[in-house]
Amino acid sequence: MTRREAFAALRQQLRAGGLESPEFEAGCLAEQLFGTAWRLMTPQQLAQPLTPEEDAALHTLARRRLAGEPLQYLLGEWEFYGLPFAVGPGVLIPRQDTETLVECALQATEGILAPSILDLCAGSGCIGIALAHCLPDARVTAVERSQDALAYLHRNIEKNAVQVAVIAGDVLEPELAASIRGADIIVSNPPYLSAADLAALQKEVQAEPRAALDGGEDGLLFYRQMPALWLESLKPGGRLLFEIGMGQEEAVSGFLARAGYTNLEIFPDLAGISRVVSGRRPAGERR
Ligand code: GLN
Repeated sequence: MTRREAFAALRQQLRAGGLESPEFEAGCLAEQLFGTAWRLMTPQQLAQPLTPEEDAALHTLARRRLAGEPLQYLLGEWEFYGLPFAVGPGVLIPRQDTETLVECALQATEGILAPSILDLCAGSGCIGIALAHCLPDARVTAVERSQDALAYLHRNIEKNAVQVAVIAGDVLEPELAASIRGADIIVSNPPYLSAADLAALQKEVQAEPRAALDGGEDGLLFYRQMPALWLESLKPGGRLLFEIGMGQEEAVSGFLARAGYTNLEIFPDLAGISRVVSGRRPAGERR
């Protein structure tokens, strides 16, 4: 079987398996297998017969994908904000929605010289690393609890050749929050799915770490606790920016207001869904 025939067969298999974008996915998997972007292959390369090893590897990839493993895990790398991120079992796959949080954080740093940025629940590191990439003078610190995620976080810092400090710890731990001071910006995409959301997850998302998704019964566990815990880690006038799930903007704004944040703002993602809520630690408060 030639590469061209193998590609057609793979695409057909993925389509028959009910995947939404069989052509795109077959292209990604073929690139993974052959080491060349599918659309850049020459006619000679396309006419090349598969080796027995390639044939076996292709079957394995197709079987695993059809069994519900995320495409991104099979590829081992995924793009976020134009940058490459190592991904695999044990770490949340960076979502395009989260690029909205990066955009909002970039806006929030405007006019701040050498901003100090904290990324809480950093996971793969996509948010903090994208910010460090865009803001070479920023001092970025990423906090993550999961050992599996931390391994990806370190790899991704190296892969993107940025300076990001890593702290292994739980963002709901008061001592940890109390030990960190002086941030201009805090960004966070905490777990925010409710128990009902978790019960209805598509197969691919079920393969992602529960700890990165589970926001407690109503999905709001982290938003309820983090604003007060981390308020004093911000400089006066500093901003906290949260990614949120669909429909959570009112509740999350409420938590920020109750914890003493002002200048509350809500930003939509590219689909027009409220995706980021931010608030400011008041400047010049008397204590
Ligand atoms: N956006 C993810 C999803 O819908 C959830 C990420 C999170 O909980 N922070 O699958």
